[in-house]
Amino acid sequence: MNFHVLTLFPDMIRDGFQTSITGRAMAKGLLSMEAINIRDFSVNKHNRVDDYPYGGGAGMVMQAEPVYLAYESVASRLEKKPRVLYMSPQGKVFNQRMAEELAREEELIFLCGHYEGIDERVLEEIVDDEVSIGDYVLTGGELPALVIMDAISRLLDGVLHNEESAEFDSFHDNLLEYPQYSRPEEWRGKKVPPILLSGHHVNVEKWRREQSLIRTKERRPDLLEHAQLTKNDKKFLAKLEEL
Ligand code: SAM
Repeated sequence: MNFHVLTLFPDMIRDGFQTSITGRAMAKGLLSMEAINIRDFSVNKHNRVDDYPYGGGAGMVMQAEPVYLAYESVASRLEKKPRVLYMSPQGKVFNQRMAEELAREEELIFLCGHYEGIDERVLEEIVDDEVSIGDYVLTGGELPALVIMDAISRLLDGVLHNEESAEFDSFHDNLLEYPQYSRPEEWRGKKVPPILLSGHHVNVEKWRREQSLIRTKERRPDLLEHAQLTKNDKKFLAKLEEL
């Protein structure tokens, strides 16, 4: 997977991505990430990339040409047209399903807006998908790009140490993950559930599955509609209803 991020703040992207698991994955060559500064493609002698909106109104708008040239600087190096994601509060709201789908791509371009956004004409020209990270407005698309790249990266082969980690995470099968505990066995009077210390693998798995079902029912009942439930899961949920 190769990520290409078109941004006015490349340091923000590099600093965020080079840390921890994603940084280690890059160092190992499991994925690559480049941040391209849109300002390097300014067509203005003052290096400006934004201008007032036609029709008036507050704020500034990023101009079409520098964004297009920044895009071309990446696309011209690739064999086929790369998929371009514009980070936008008006886009489809990102979720785990989308992360799984995007993880199958080889090249992804992330376009980050700033100020009031980007001239619509260049969006029409190069963007394949508009993606939002939630119903709120941020100052720029850099944090959304980092969020999405992070979610995709941890699905790529070899990125997580334990191959099983992503498989049991929340949302993987539309269930939230069970609660996790680590040492010590007792912390400030609170004990680890005894079943986890029993060494009985089958019972531990049963307990974890039930905890996932309880959590999802309590916190995100909407997810249960799309979860793949076994006969035992359904029986367990029916029992919960009776309580
Ligand atoms: N005027 C725009 C609107 O109302 O749709 C909002 C512009 S916002 C202040 C500046 C940039 O931040 C956007 O171009 C986009 O790239 C990014 N952005 C803001 N909120 C976002 C969100 N929830 N998801 C993804 N990107 C977002």
